[in-house]
Amino acid sequence: MQPKELTTRLINASDAIAWKTCRRRAWYDFRQPDAGMAPDPFELLIMEAGMDHEQSVLMGLGDYQTAQDETHTAELIAARTPLIYQPKFQDKELSVVAQPDFLFLEDEGYRAGDAKLARSMKDKPDLRIQLAVYQRVLKTELSTKALLAEGNFEFINEKDLKNSDAFLADMKELATADRPDAHFGASRCNGCPYRQTCVPEFRANGDLGQNYFVDARAIPHLQAAGISTLSDLALANPETLPDVPYFKGEKKSKAVLHAQSVIDGKIIVRSTPTRITGTPIHFDIETNPLAAESSEEVYLWGFLPPPYEPQDFEHLWHDGGAEKRPKCLAAVSWKGSQPKTKIL
Ligand code: SF4
Repeated sequence: MQPKELTTRLINASDAIAWKTCRRRAWYDFRQPDAGMAPDPFELLIMEAGMDHEQSVLMGLGDYQTAQDETHTAELIAARTPLIYQPKFQDKELSVVAQPDFLFLEDEGYRAGDAKLARSMKDKPDLRIQLAVYQRVLKTELSTKALLAEGNFEFINEKDLKNSDAFLADMKELATADRPDAHFGASRCNGCPYRQTCVPEFRANGDLGQNYFVDARAIPHLQAAGISTLSDLALANPETLPDVPYFKGEKKSKAVLHAQSVIDGKIIVRSTPTRITGTPIHFDIETNPLAAESSEEVYLWGFLPPPYEPQDFEHLWHDGGAEKRPKCLAAVSWKGSQPKTKIL
């Protein structure tokens, strides 16, 4: 366990994004915000797209004044400025700094607003918490408004406010806590700026999170049952492994085989796939996660016919705009093991 290090930094509303992904990441951010790896090109692209979206929302809102700092924000609020851009707050009581994108003056007072690149906030608990913190800092009943892609908007709710209170309480605890326990998770660790510190440790410790069939929520239960590392799992008998939450049935034998494969460095064939007769052709569809419209998401369809070399790739079409896209090129159904293709 790493030693306790104190931090004097205030909580930033946007820390909710790291916190929701991984408490340890929030802990690192608190202490060494510059120690992580620089953002990769994809992260930079997302940031740029986010800033472009913020600017396009701002352009559609009419006259505004940009707040220079906290004092200027307070002055603009006192002057009842109808639209304040980039207001800045420091709330000593909550130990929070916050900078929503906008403050809208309404009859009941100021409402915070924030531009978000997402089309919906439904599956964005981290962003919802961030926006709820803005409302807590403003000390208003007016729900923060998320200004989304495609002109959509949503408001945060009571549940988000409660979640933001839990976030703030936990962040205060993290400020003086030892480094929290964590487990490897490919989707969160591979893109994390602290992966160069954590991932080698996970590898060296045989962390169970490296096993595809072990859900992170099952790990404490497995540890309690005496299975703490990949080596323990590789030696276990799936028949006698206890059922624990998120780790039951067929998962157990798959997890043991996967652990054995990793430990021994061997490929274990569980079953031989039935080969399709005829000539296999690879088909792939690529989507753009930053597309502003859902109809713009798919930008590339491609076939890879034999002999399957990079130069054999046939791009059925490349994005040249919505008007150039075919509605559908072919429908493929299966009759027994034979594909039946209908060109549309
Ligand atoms: S590398 Fe993984 S465990 Fe470490 S801080 Fe990042 S997300 Fe958390």
